[in-house]
Amino acid sequence: MNKTKSQCPYCASFDTTLRNIIPTSSENFLVPELKNITRSWHDCNNCKVCFAMPRLNDKQIKYMYDNYRSESFRNETPDEYFDRITNYDTENSENYHKTNWLKQELKDEWEPTTILDIGCGGGVLLHTLGKIYKNAFLFGIEPTSNFADLASRRTRAKVKNDYFKGKPFKDKIFELVTCCQVLEHVVDLKKFLIDLNNSTRKDGYVYIEVPDISDFTELPLEHPRFSEPSHLWYFSSAFLTNYFESHGFKKILHTVQKTVRKRNNLMILLKKIT
Ligand SMILES: [Zn+2]
Repeated sequence: MNKTKSQCPYCASFDTTLRNIIPTSSENFLVPELKNITRSWHDCNNCKVCFAMPRLNDKQIKYMYDNYRSESFRNETPDEYFDRITNYDTENSENYHKTNWLKQELKDEWEPTTILDIGCGGGVLLHTLGKIYKNAFLFGIEPTSNFADLASRRTRAKVKNDYFKGKPFKDKIFELVTCCQVLEHVVDLKKFLIDLNNSTRKDGYVYIEVPDISDFTELPLEHPRFSEPSHLWYFSSAFLTNYFESHGFKKILHTVQKTVRKRNNLMILLKKIT
């Protein structure tokens, strides 16, 4: 057993175990000063979350999100990126599969009138949700300005360029909140959950998608999912269920799906019950 003194950033326990040391990677260019720093992943034996070390400071996090665009759009303009993703046929579109799964699980006859996508990126999920829920009012929040601008121009959603905190749209609360590939980037998970709870209508639903812990047994340790400095956590369904159910939500179901690029995504649907 590799016992370490790393403290769990979620529950503050020192009962943690080193899981893996990650080979240094070019992905760290996102934060140049972290380029030669050894990164490791640890399991908390108390709360069961898996966390990365070292943690980024506020300045590094701001730098990273301010500069995210250059890497994410690669050789495309923002609009070319949007067109490519939204023009996949239904068979090959992960967004379509995701939204369709959601619609079936939410019962086809139930239609949310207000939808918030937290970390909406360039708006491709909002675009698909807007096609399926034609009468819903759409909202998005996104910290990287170029993405937020793209989502605002290319979807009918009202989009705010900011981190998700407090109540981003005044007193508006939502019947459906989606949050895809976001939670693993969140520094303060407790605060995030309080804000999420305050933004969700009672009897409304929350859909979460995160990298699944099974990546560790199925992807090489050189994979960017482990080295990307913005990835702070890895989750299991057991941890997430407990996390949400201790804060007024009830898990409806979860599933793990493999993407075309062999990544494992944990999808979990929750209902706000109190
Ligand atoms: Zn812990």
